[in-house]
Amino acid sequence: MARIGFVGLGNMGGPMARNLLRAGHAVAGYDLVPAALEAFAGAGGQAAGSAAEAAAGAAFVVTMLPAGRHVREAWLGAGGLAAASAPGAVLIDCSTIDVATAREVAAGAGKPMLDAPVSGGTMGAEAATLTFMVGGPAPAYAAALPILQAMGRTIVHCGEAGAGQAAKVCNNMMLAANMIVTAEAFVLAEKLGLTHQALFDVASKSSGQSWALTSYCPVPGPVPNSPANRDYRPGFAAALMLKDLGLSQEAAATAGATTPLGAEALALYRRFVEAGGGDVDFSGIIRLLREG
Ligand code: NAD
Repeated sequence: MARIGFVGLGNMGGPMARNLLRAGHAVAGYDLVPAALEAFAGAGGQAAGSAAEAAAGAAFVVTMLPAGRHVREAWLGAGGLAAASAPGAVLIDCSTIDVATAREVAAGAGKPMLDAPVSGGTMGAEAATLTFMVGGPAPAYAAALPILQAMGRTIVHCGEAGAGQAAKVCNNMMLAANMIVTAEAFVLAEKLGLTHQALFDVASKSSGQSWALTSYCPVPGPVPNSPANRDYRPGFAAALMLKDLGLSQEAAATAGATTPLGAEALALYRRFVEAGGGDVDFSGIIRLLREG
């Protein structure tokens, strides 16, 4: 069993660190928020006094932080994790951040580092069923695999540094556009006098099929546990989708890719969030489309 340092014990990091404890690892954790640290200690974790203390002597150091600036500061800032971690440690950032920062931090860390963002949300984090998209050197990936498997079910090595973040932004751009067009189709069906169930029964077995339709159906009824059935309580909040669409447009601009539907999805989610929908599940975008 490994000694692991875990920094960022929030909605995702908290349950992920608990799953490492359940798997029998010795985990030292740190978070700026005392309540998160106390909850972690209550679950049997070792509460550290600083990020550097959590990393000291660990074979693996994991971060799960909000955004790129937090990740850069935590790893490369004064007293940061790159310097504080032991020689030979494998460094893993699971936060969803921009590709450029992921590459910059990996290059500056001076030790083998993986970007390993996740999909599956807080439910996947609790149940240890997350999907990990991993970028970084193959030997570090091989060493980290059992650690990632304690927190997730599907682990994909996508390529070198930044490739995990690249996969994440591409996937979520597809998800956003799929959700918007699925919601548009239900609004059109309503105007055409077609029932939700009839459209679902046809499209879920036809070429209009998508995860947005069959797992996250944006109208109540056809998929009983989709957020539409609980007044669009997340799930995956629209504010987080807006963040991910910003990252994909940033990546597209840097790489010179043309992504007009991704840009339109960003504009629609921005409108939805600015109108107060940030805490609503991202499938709630159907409300904006109904308003016109
Ligand atoms: P969160 O805000 O609940 O947790 C982040 C934690 O990091 C907070 O507890 C915060 O106090 C802590 N933190 C910030 N800076 C720190 C520092 N310097 N040192 C120690 N702790 C620090 O966010 P979350 O929902 O857990 O998301 C974390 C990451 O996972 C984000 O990048 C998010 O985009 C991504 N993500 C979230 C979901 C989801 O459904 N919530 C799904 C997939 C990916």
